[in-house]
Amino acid sequence: MKLRLSPEDAAFRAELREFFTTQVPRHIRDTVAAREDLTKEQMVESMRTLDAAGIAVPNWPVEWGGKDWTPLQRHIWHEEMRAACVPPPITFNASMVGPVIAAFGSQQVKERFLPATRNAGIWWSQGFSEPDAGSDLAALRTSAVRDGDHYVVNGQKTWTSYAQYGDWIFTLVRTDPDAPRKQAGISFLLIDMTTPGVTVRPIRLIDGGSLVNEVFFQDVRVPADNLVGQENHGWHYAKFLLGNERAGIAGVGGTKWLLAEAKTWAGDRLREDPLLAADFARLENDLLAIELTSIRVAAESSDGKAQPASSVLKLAGSELQQAVTELVLNLAGEQGLSSDPAAGAPAWTRPAAPSYLHLRAASIYGGSNEVQRQIIAGTILGL
Ligand SMILES: Cc1cc2nc3c(=O)[nH]c(=O)nc-3n(C[C@H](O)[C@H](O)[C@H](O)COP(=O)(O)OP(=O)(O)OC[C@H]3O[C@@H](n4cnc5c(N)ncnc54)[C@H](O)[C@@H]3O)c2cc1C
Repeated sequence: MKLRLSPEDAAFRAELREFFTTQVPRHIRDTVAAREDLTKEQMVESMRTLDAAGIAVPNWPVEWGGKDWTPLQRHIWHEEMRAACVPPPITFNASMVGPVIAAFGSQQVKERFLPATRNAGIWWSQGFSEPDAGSDLAALRTSAVRDGDHYVVNGQKTWTSYAQYGDWIFTLVRTDPDAPRKQAGISFLLIDMTTPGVTVRPIRLIDGGSLVNEVFFQDVRVPADNLVGQENHGWHYAKFLLGNERAGIAGVGGTKWLLAEAKTWAGDRLREDPLLAADFARLENDLLAIELTSIRVAAESSDGKAQPASSVLKLAGSELQQAVTELVLNLAGEQGLSSDPAAGAPAWTRPAAPSYLHLRAASIYGGSNEVQRQIIAGTILGL
């Protein structure tokens, strides 16, 4: 999409482009461009570089390091970051727990956690899903029983992304098992992952990695001060967080970059094969529609409430990500089946299959697409 920018926004874009392409270390941007996995250190270093320049968490309140940017400026920030192959700020920190703490945490919790969340001094994991409590999240069973000035936590979380890197985990725990509605007995608790009784076990994935983990809590003692907001009000904060998560999963900037790269990888085939050209045209149109929707959702989210339209973004964005990685896999052909550099295939073909396989999960994580369809039907279409 060619945005017709005002002179101020054009200058803003130029400034960000200059920053991203000159100040974020080359080795990090090269790793992203090669579509290789970043190390924890690289992700932290990149976020610290952004934070030092004051642009790691523009979505936060200004008081805590956010920016008073317009939705369009935020969009430009994100677009330029992805175009320069800069990893976006760690999503668990910047888009998930940070905004929840800023909106609902006590002053003490804000002061204690927000600076370290912003500069990746803490790596947060998200402990929401459990066996039998994914789509039906409110069915979660991990319990937190008050004992003096502590909670004692017992239970299991699953599919916890990057828990192997986690310093702290933000969790939903059941504090009132007798609440009349299961949503009413849930609290939002912050847990130091080095506390005795916390165990992390990796889950091996089809793409060859082990991004996700199981996390077990056995008699874990958590200071009651680590509660966010009020006891038994956690469901409200979780819904706020999930709205932000869904909008982020659309992945517009990354898809835009990949689609543009795919054109260069297609080379002459794009001219010679009209069906391939039609595929590109269709995907580019879909991308444009999603991009416009994402600007709209950002604009309408400014009052801090979760927007149902974020479900549209999650649904359409994840399907587009899957379609584009499928296109890249098709372009790579049989060369995409080997990730071994010694096989002599062009470097861009090597991540094609793992990336295609990895993105199959995009229609599940962040709330499955079937469930997003139900939210859209109920809250947007009024069916
Ligand atoms: C790669 C990956 C990373 C993840 N990272 C995290 C993380 O860091 N932290 C975290 O807390 N969670 C994480 N998750 C968990 C994710 O949010 C859940 O997997 C997701 O919410 C789906 O829940 P489930 O797996 O229990 O599936 P289920 O709820 O058992 O669903 C199984 C199938 O039934 C369908 N279904 C369920 N209910 C309905 C319904 N009412 N109507 C129609 N269809 C329905 C679903 O759409 C799905 O197709 C991750 C998952 C993956 C795959």
